[in-house]
Amino acid sequence: MGSNKQKREAIDAKRQAQRDDVREQARREIELSRRRDFEARLARGEVAVEPSRLAPSNSYSIPHFVERGTYQPQPFVCKDCGVAEVWTPLQQKWWYETAKGDVFTTATRCRACRARERARKAAARRAHLEGLARRKLPAS
Ligand SMILES: [Zn+2]
Repeated sequence: MGSNKQKREAIDAKRQAQRDDVREQARREIELSRRRDFEARLARGEVAVEPSRLAPSNSYSIPHFVERGTYQPQPFVCKDCGVAEVWTPLQQKWWYETAKGDVFTTATRCRACRARERARKAAARRAHLEGLARRKLPAS
């Protein structure tokens, strides 16, 4: 025959188990709704983020796309020519996960201006290197 203390302990243990069950069920429901939201995003054409492929960041804040788990189309206005363009989910995935672009950078130039800017930088680099080469030539 159990003492009062043993009975009380048994009741407490049962109550604790019930509380754990409720908590576990709530956790599972949140997980399920997150999963459904994620699937719906992919169905809309968003693209999954692979956090392990991102460039490391010193910031404590987490980019929105990492929290969300997907890249979504991002409209922006080109800072050079003012044209409206959309940065697509696949372009973002390439920028962050393949080119290892900083996770807090976003598209600022349209495709045409990006190409122009790349050519301008390449020309400047070439001119700089040619300048250095000329200076290294022995004076005659
Ligand atoms: Zn532009």
